[in-house]
Order: sequence, then C-alpha cells, then structure tokens
Amino acid sequence: MFRQARWNERLIFELGWPGRRGYVVPKVEKEILEAVGGLKTLLPQELQRRTPPQLPELSEAEVVRHYIRLSEMNYGVDSGFYPLGSCTMKYNPKVDEVIAKSPHITMTHPYQDERTVQGTLEILYLLANWLAEITGTFEVSLQPAAGAHGEFLGTLIMRAFHKSNDELEKRTELIVPDSAHGTNPASGAMGGFKVLVVPSDEEGCVDLDALESAVSERTAGLMLTNPNTLGIFEKNIERISEIVHKAGGLLYYDGANLNAILGKARPGDMGFDIVHMNIHKTFGTPHGGGGPGSGPIGVSKSLERFLPIPRILFDGHRYHLDYDKPHSVGKIRSFYGNTGVLLRAFTYILSLGAEGLEAAAEVSVLNANYVMKKLMKIRGLDLPYALERPRKHECVISCKRLQRETGIRALDVSKRILDYGMHSPTTYFPLIVDEALMIEPTESFEKKELDRFVNIVQNISSEAYSTPDVVLKAPQNTAITRLDEAKASHPRTMALSWIMYQKRNL
Ligand SMILES: *Cc1c(COP(=O)(O)O)cnc(C)c1O
Repeated sequence: MFRQARWNERLIFELGWPGRRGYVVPKVEKEILEAVGGLKTLLPQELQRRTPPQLPELSEAEVVRHYIRLSEMNYGVDSGFYPLGSCTMKYNPKVDEVIAKSPHITMTHPYQDERTVQGTLEILYLLANWLAEITGTFEVSLQPAAGAHGEFLGTLIMRAFHKSNDELEKRTELIVPDSAHGTNPASGAMGGFKVLVVPSDEEGCVDLDALESAVSERTAGLMLTNPNTLGIFEKNIERISEIVHKAGGLLYYDGANLNAILGKARPGDMGFDIVHMNIHKTFGTPHGGGGPGSGPIGVSKSLERFLPIPRILFDGHRYHLDYDKPHSVGKIRSFYGNTGVLLRAFTYILSLGAEGLEAAAEVSVLNANYVMKKLMKIRGLDLPYALERPRKHECVISCKRLQRETGIRALDVSKRILDYGMHSPTTYFPLIVDEALMIEPTESFEKKELDRFVNIVQNISSEAYSTPDVVLKAPQNTAITRLDEAKASHPRTMALSWIMYQKRNL
C-alpha cells in the first residue's frame, strides 16, 4: 500500500547499491597523468586518504526522489491554507526571492568598504523611509532581528528617554494588557521594568478605568497591540494615549501584525511614540521554524536621538553609516540587520505599491470577517467578546462549548485539522479566551480555500458529537501522529538526531 513519508524513513546511507554513481568524474587523460608523474603526486601526502569516504552510493534520480519524498512531510504556505493567527503566514511572492538571491547582493560582504555597497545601502535607506511613512513615525532603524528584539530595543529607548529626564529611578513600571503577546511582558522584564497587567473589558479592549488606576508617576510606558490579539481595534486609542502621556509614560505599539491597517491607519497618528513592525509577518518573508526575521522600530521625533547606531545617512551623493550619535542606546545587532529579509520587504512594497498595500489590508480584513461569520455558526463554537463588532486581520473562536458538550478540546480540533491536509490555527492564544482558536486567513487565500477550511471545521464539529474518538486520536494521516505535548518540549526526552534515536532504542 502507498504511504506518505513518515519521520522514520530510511536514511540516504541505507539506500543505494555498491558501485552506483550519481556523477561520474571524467577520466584524467593518460598524457596528463604521465606529465605530472601520477595522481598521487598531485595531492600532498597528508591530504591523501587511505580508505575511501563512506558515501552513500545512489544515482542522481534516486537522490532527488529521496529528498523530494522527505520534503513532502512538510507543510508550508505554498502547500495551502495556513491560518496561524498572530503569526501572519501569507504567500510570499517569488519575485521577492529572485531579488533577495541576486548575486549583486549575495556576493557582497558586510565588511566591504561602504563605498562599494552603495546599492544595498540605498535599498535599506529607502525601505526605512517607506516604513516610517507606513507607520507614521519620524525615523526607522532596521536593525532588530525579530519582533521581540524590536520590543527589547523599545524598552531600552524608554529607559534612555526617562534617564534623559532624570526620571529613570522612579519610572519602573511597564503596563501591558492581558491580551498581549507573550513577548511583551518578557521584553518589559528584560528591559528591567516591573510589568503591570491591565485587564480587558467585556468588549475585549483595554479597560479604561483599570488603566487610569494603573498609571502613576512610576509608569515608564504602555505596550499595546492595535488591532489587539482578538482582532479588535482599540477604539479608545486616543483616550489611552492621553492617559499614558499625561502620566509621563511612553506609548509603545506592538506592530507585529500590520496587515489590517496598511495604508488605512498609522500608529504614529494614533499617538504612539515607539513602533515595531514584523517584516517577516506583514511584508512577505518565509518564516517559521525560528527565523530569519526582522523587527525594525520607528520612533517619534523626540526619541530619534536614542536610536541604535549605525544609521544610514544620505548626503545627496553617497550613502554612509553614521556612528556619531552620543545619545544612542548603542549597537544592538551586527552589520545592517537581516538584509535578506529586508530586501524581500523592499521588493514586496515596491511591487505592490501604496494601492496594493491598502488592497492587501482590505482583503485580509474581509477574509477574517468572512471566516469568523461562518465559524461562529458551527455547533460547539462561539465568538467571545464584542459579538457585533467586526474583526480586523484575525478572529478568535472559542471551543469551550464543544468541550463541555463533547469533551473535544481546541487542541483536538487543531490536531484533527491536520488529518484533512491543512495547517491548524494558533491554539490557546490569547490566554484570555478559553479553548481558543486564533485564525488569520491573510489576503493571500481565495474564497474557495476559506470555504474548504470552514467545511473541515464543520466536519470536525459533527465528528465531535458523533464519533469523538476519531478526533481524540487525530492526527492519523500525517508524518507524525499525536505527540505527547509535555514530553515533546522536554530536552531530556527528545532525540534530536538519528544517532540519539538509535542509542535510545538499543
Ligand atoms: C509574532 C508576534 C510578536 C513577536 O515577534 P517575533 O518576531 O516572533 O519575536 C510580538 N507580538 C505579536 C502580536 C506577534 O504576533
């Protein structure tokens, strides 16, 4: 019987046949051999092997088929729908890859004299300006390597700002809503702040009364995601900005997901002082599995002097790296940041144009609301918070009722989705929603694909009420069946290589 690739496929070393070759080196001509006095004299003694290397022996076609089969264990945004809420898995146009792979760029070295990398500097300079325009900030630094890194830099800038006012001693608290991404409180703590959590109101937005009582002369700032992780726009943002600024704090915008507001609204105009954006989410870069990413930050005019060094300046003729910034928080990353990712963003923005970015925002919001309306009608599923308000780039659905009525949890639904050949949504985030499924369709999937997803969830709901065992045992049709979630994240129980696995099973 046919079976798709599984994790324990045979290794390439276990395949093949002695004497089989993928590539045949041309024979050295006799005259050449005679002229140099034999092959052995060509190679220094110490580099000559006594035994041949233990290489697998396969034909080229066998090697290709082996790796293609292994690659089919994977699922990517190019395989189909990938509704990972908050992580923005969108289709990455191949033209971005063509540009990022251009030898004009890949064959340069970061240690080269800046006069010889003027093209790269120009691209980065323009990109920083575009991102400042998109976010409504005064100046952007492209250096942070990820969203969390941008947040950390943001806390350093907050510190530098309060220090310059002689207030760092007393401004020790960073406020974060309870719907925030986990990196927000973590970055606050890394930046040396005490993190205060403010609750959400019944609308899923920041509770203004709670915020009023949380701010004080100890407030360093507020970190906010807008639209928040429920996909809801904080309609009181102007009031929030007023409360925080009046207390002497700074307003930090977690712009990991800019998809909903591209060309529509700008954090700078909402009153934010510091903004990070996740290039690898909004601006088309293949991500997942830990990188690479890029999390530039933009700041208002009054914070510009604290940005990290070096900055790229243009004098009308040449671009150059400027280190002369006495108030800068210093250097936070080597060279210019993750240039490959930034180049993709440059191409992405250039190819879409202002109108294209705006259209992307519109379609992503439309898709999220379409999926939300369909899902909330499915038996066992509910839409928590603000029933009548539209969502932005994503929506969060609760499986609490399904769990109560059938014992099937959000995790089981997610695992079962894999059996239907589709990627699951983000599960159990944000923490304020019980049994949460967080769905972000992005602008890059058509209605047919959205309908397919809704139908799959509909099927799983029916299964939960009729044959729950099928859902509990899922996934069965994938390369790896259900993991022990606790064991799978424990380093001592993991076999991280084939050799470790074999030793474990001896
Ligand atoms: C992804 C994300 C982050 C963190 O970004 P990384 O690049 O993964 O460090 C922060 N906030 C929100 C809302 C996010 O979705």
